[in-house]
Amino acid sequence: MSETANSRAAALSHLRSHGFTSGDPIPLPLTMASIFHTPGVETGVDQYGRYDNPTWRAVEHVLGHLEDAQCVSFPSGMAAISAVFFALLKSGDRVLLPADGYHATRAMAERFLKPLGITCDSRPTPTFLDGGFEAYRLVFIETPSNPRLDICDISAVAKAAHEQGAILAVDNTTMTPFGQRPLDFGADIVVSADTKAVNGHSDVLFGHVASRNADIIAGVTDWRAMVGGIPGPFEAWLVHRGLETLEVRFDRMCSSAEIIARRLKEHHAVRGLRFPGLDGDLSHNLARAQMDRFGFLISFELSSEEKAEDFINNCQLIEAATSFGGVHTSAERRSKRGDAVPAGFVRLSVGCEPVEELWRAIAESLDRTGG
Ligand SMILES: *Cc1c(COP(=O)(O)O)cnc(C)c1O
Repeated sequence: MSETANSRAAALSHLRSHGFTSGDPIPLPLTMASIFHTPGVETGVDQYGRYDNPTWRAVEHVLGHLEDAQCVSFPSGMAAISAVFFALLKSGDRVLLPADGYHATRAMAERFLKPLGITCDSRPTPTFLDGGFEAYRLVFIETPSNPRLDICDISAVAKAAHEQGAILAVDNTTMTPFGQRPLDFGADIVVSADTKAVNGHSDVLFGHVASRNADIIAGVTDWRAMVGGIPGPFEAWLVHRGLETLEVRFDRMCSSAEIIARRLKEHHAVRGLRFPGLDGDLSHNLARAQMDRFGFLISFELSSEEKAEDFINNCQLIEAATSFGGVHTSAERRSKRGDAVPAGFVRLSVGCEPVEELWRAIAESLDRTGG
C-alpha cells in the first residue's frame, strides 16, 4: 500500500480520541435512541433518530476519513445506490449503467426509474468509453465489474462525462477505499455495499455514499431523512467495528488472492481465469494504474455446472454462499443468480484463512472434481 494509505490506516483507530475527555470509553459506545433530550428551541443537537444518530456519525467519520470526502450511511448497498438515483435524477434525465455490473442496480433502474420518465441505457465495462456520454445526466460504473472483473478507466470516463455535463458515480464495493479511491480519479460520487468487505463478517447489510461535492451530500442526506431508509444504530456500530480491522483483513485477502489466482490459472481443470493482478489479464495494465491492490475476487470456469457445484460444495474451506468479502472464503456459481455467464462460471471470494491451508483445500477439491 502507498504511504498515504498506510497513514490513513494508522490514524483510523485513533480518530475518536481527539474528542476524548477523561473517563470516556475508548471503543465506540452504541446509541440506541429514537428520541433525544431536547427542551426549548435549541437546534444543532440530535432530536429524532430518523435525522441523525451519534453511531452513524462515528461510522461516517471513519468512512469519510478513508474516502477523503463526506459520507452518508445507508441500510444497504442498494439503499445507497437508490439514494443517488432518486435524490439526483428527475424526469427526462438519461442514465448510463454498466451492462455487466451488479444485477440489482440495472433491475432497479428498469423497474423504478423508467416509469418516472428517466431513460436508462447500459454498456459493457471493457468498452465503456465507446460512444461518449452526450446527453447523460448520470454515468454509473462498477470497476472491477462484478462478477467478470473487467475494468474501465475511471479518469478517462470522468473526464469525458464531465465534458458532456454528466456526473460520474462509481460502485466501489469490490475494492473498498483501501483498494481504490475513485474520487481521486475525478469521480463525483462513490457508492459502496459495506455489506461486503467493509463490514467483512457477513452479519450486516450496510452501504454508503461518499462525495466531495456538498450539494450531492445534501441531496442524499435529505433523501435519507425524508424517505426514512435509515441504517439501524446497531448495524452502524458493527460496521464501525469492522472498519477497525478492514486494512488487516483486506491486506490478507488481497495477498492470498494473488497467490491463489496464479496457482489456479496453472491448474488443468481451470479455464478463463480472471484476476486483475495477473500479468497478462485483460485488466492488468489499467488495474496497475488505478488500483492500490488487485482485490480478493477471482473468477474462472470449470467445464460444467456439475463440476463447479462439486468443487464449491466439497471444498473444506469454501462456504457455498452468495455475496463476497467476508472473512470466510466463499464461492458461487453465478449463472445461478442470473448473471450472463457460463454454467460452470465460479466467483471465488478469498477470505482470511492462512493461504497455504486454503490453497491445499482448494487444490484437493479441484483434483477430486477433475477437469
Ligand atoms: C452486493 C452489491 C450491491 C448491493 O449491496 P446490498 O448491501 O446487498 O444492497 C451493490 N453493488 C455491488 C457491486 C454489490 O456487490
